[in-house]
Order: sequence, then structure tokens, then C-alpha cells
Amino acid sequence: MCMFVSRVLRGVQSFIMSSKYNVVFVLGGPGAGKGTQCAKIVEEYGYLHLSAGDLLREERDEAGSEYGELIEGHIKNGTIVPVEITCSLLERAMKKSEKDNFLIDGFPRNQNNLEGWNKEMGEKVNLKFVLFFECPLDVCTQRCLDRGAAGSGRSDDNIESLKKRFETYMNATMPIIDHYDAINLVRTVNATGTPEEIFEEVKKLFS
Ligand code: UDP
Ligand code: MG
Repeated sequence: MCMFVSRVLRGVQSFIMSSKYNVVFVLGGPGAGKGTQCAKIVEEYGYLHLSAGDLLREERDEAGSEYGELIEGHIKNGTIVPVEITCSLLERAMKKSEKDNFLIDGFPRNQNNLEGWNKEMGEKVNLKFVLFFECPLDVCTQRCLDRGAAGSGRSDDNIESLKKRFETYMNATMPIIDHYDAINLVRTVNATGTPEEIFEEVKKLFS
């Protein structure tokens, strides 16, 4: 009887675990290569890539979005959109995909993001780890300026916005990375090389 009960309980537990979303958060400064590496991970390991920044830009461009101006203000200014907006865009995309494994790129970026996510998604998600692309400021800056010059079309790939994005990154996002590091969830990759070199390091974490 006791064995039976514990087997049923194990079954229920594994059902609950398997019905959770598996998530890897991808963090690093502006231009650290999050988007580039995520595309490679998708190709090789079949995750679904959700970029919080891309979702916000899509929402901004949606005709009649009530958040368009607010989002653009934050993007230009390098500040962080309130978590209710970002988190609901992420959850909607996750549900719509009908997939289980997600790379969430560029989120959570501050304490408000972290708390809002934990409250709304904490129970629905199995956080596997945080993939952290470590890259010096001068390398990141040059990449974003090159990207802007090559026609990224982004309203924040200019030197004024970049300064603010770095400030937010250092003051608001680094503490989030430190928080996950303190609970042993951070996997750090040196992100100064070529995309191919960096991906060799990334692969070691996924296989
Ligand atoms: N952003 C935000 N919350 C997020 C992700 C992005 O508010 O969770 C905003 C923020 O203003 C940021 C901008 O979108 O500076 C661009 O983010 P993205 O991740 O695309 O660019 P990155 O700076 O990482 O290259
Ligand atoms: Mg990006």
C-alpha cells in the first residue's frame, strides 16, 4: 500500500516536472553576442529563442499598442520596461509556441524583472541555468556601433543610448547575475572571440 502510494506520488511529481517549461536565461552586456549565440543554440539543440528586446520592439511596432510610446522611451533611454509588460509578452510567446525548452535572451535585467518573473512564472518554470556572456565594455561598444553603422535600424545603437544601456547593465543587471551566481546557476562564457570560437565554449554547456 505504502509502496503504491509513493509510486503514485512519484508519478504525479514527474508529471508536474515534465509539464514545466525549461528555461535558460541568457544575459550579458549590450553587444555581448546573446542574439548571435542563441541562433546557433537553436540550430544545434532545438531550443526556442525568445528575445525580450525583440518582443518589446514588436509590441512597440504593433499598430494601436497602448504601450508603444512607453516602450520606445525606455529603449532609447536604456532603461527597463516594467516587468508586467515584458513578462506577459514572454508568457504569451511561450504558450503560443507549444514548446517546452526556451532560451530567454536579455531578461531578467533588474530586480523588478526578477521579482515579477518569480511571482508570475516561478512555479511554471524549471530554470536550468543562466548563460552569461562576459565581454569588456570597449568590445561591446564597438560591436553595437558597427551594428548601428551596418544598418541595424535600432534606435539605441548610437553612442548616447549605449552609454545609458551600459549604465543600466552595470547598476541593475549585474546584481541579478550576482544573485544567480550566489545560488550556483551561472555558467560564464568568455564572449570576446569570434562567433564560432564562442560557440565552441557554449556547446560544452549544452551537451
Ligand atoms: N528591454 C527591457 N526589458 C527587457 C529586455 C529589453 O526593458 O527585458 C529594453 C531595454 O530598454 C533595453 C532594450 O530593450 O536597453 C534593448 O534590449 P536588447 O536585449 O534587445 O538589447 P541589448 O542591450 O541586450 O543588446
Ligand atoms: Mg539582443
